[in-house]
Amino acid sequence: MKKIQMVDLKGQYEEIKEQVDSSVLNVINSTAFINGPEVHSFQKELEDYLQVKHVIPCANGTDALQIAMMGLGLEPGDEVITADFTFAATVEVIALLKLTPVLVDVEPNSFNIDPEAIKKAITSKTKAIVPVHLFGQSANMDVIMQIAKEHNLYVIEDNAQGIGANYKFANGQVAKTGAIGHVASTSFFPSKNLGCYGDGGAIFTNDDDLAHTIRGVVNHGMYKRYHHDVVGVNSRLDSIQATILRTKLPKLDGYNTARRTAAIKYNKAFAGIENIITPRVKGNGCNTNENTVCDSCDCHVFHQYTLRVVNTDRDALVKHLNDNGIPCGVYYPIPLHSQKAYQDTRYNEADFPVTNQLVKEVISLPMHTELDDEQIDFITKTVIDFVTQ
Ligand SMILES: *Cc1c(COP(=O)(O)O)cnc(C)c1O
Repeated sequence: MKKIQMVDLKGQYEEIKEQVDSSVLNVINSTAFINGPEVHSFQKELEDYLQVKHVIPCANGTDALQIAMMGLGLEPGDEVITADFTFAATVEVIALLKLTPVLVDVEPNSFNIDPEAIKKAITSKTKAIVPVHLFGQSANMDVIMQIAKEHNLYVIEDNAQGIGANYKFANGQVAKTGAIGHVASTSFFPSKNLGCYGDGGAIFTNDDDLAHTIRGVVNHGMYKRYHHDVVGVNSRLDSIQATILRTKLPKLDGYNTARRTAAIKYNKAFAGIENIITPRVKGNGCNTNENTVCDSCDCHVFHQYTLRVVNTDRDALVKHLNDNGIPCGVYYPIPLHSQKAYQDTRYNEADFPVTNQLVKEVISLPMHTELDDEQIDFITKTVIDFVTQ
């Protein structure tokens, strides 16, 4: 059996090596390292793929979130609601801009922000909601967009883990995640579903004025050369990363299918096993039961394949897997409201029952485009042995 990796960047590279190597050499020979034609072409191709009017490439996914918030003109003291159970980047940039993060609980079965908790957290100072499409599955955008409309709030989608996922609205309409809210961010960190070979990110919006503002923000606040109209940042996707992303973008749907195929195999192997709760996918209009992976559409792109284990010592399971040569991850072990940097006296433990439970139960298994059946069998057997012992 091939050695099991959490993410197999090498295996994936080998499949596209010739194209990647020659395109990178072309960029080096062209010396158009910054804002070159490759960046522009990638931007256009991603706009086409996502069916979004504007893609603004930038340096990483954390910058993308920050720049989106700067572009919206949010001001110190404005409250921004986001999920307690996510990667810290989301809350970090809110705090960095001196906005007030308002963390709320998530749903136990989708791991995504709970629309009921959003409603409860809205005050007269609330200006925006940041849903994170966690682990590759869209948050409940029907309800979130409705809440935003009623309360006149911006929706900033953190699509770092969801690129390529479709969201099917209750009315049957389908859109890519990241093309639904007022603005969205993504990351091209190597392990993301569309990863480059270094850092990269992008902002998406359908709003022409906002896109114009953001194009200045990423470039030192310049709209005319050496005229700095607003305080901006320097955040760029470089041409070498862009050319790699151009090679990978046409393969993204295939990559996501490979991830989904692996997830379906995992779910089948774990079906009916006591103490294991498999990831649930139940988008609007998906023909799925409560506990099956939707294999008929692409509403979940499985950035992570995350189980909940109950009546089980999760950390002992992690050790057992590692001892058997199986890497795994705990995303995320600590609720954001309990992190030293983001503690706030206004939070009440009783407001986070789901997150407080999930941090003890979740375990993410190897998930990438190169997993084979032998590896999946070995992983599932090793997990099942432990939880049923
Ligand atoms: C990866 C990630 C980010 C940050 O992306 P970087 O490119 O590493 O800055 C932000 N939000 C979420 C949910 C992520 O998973």
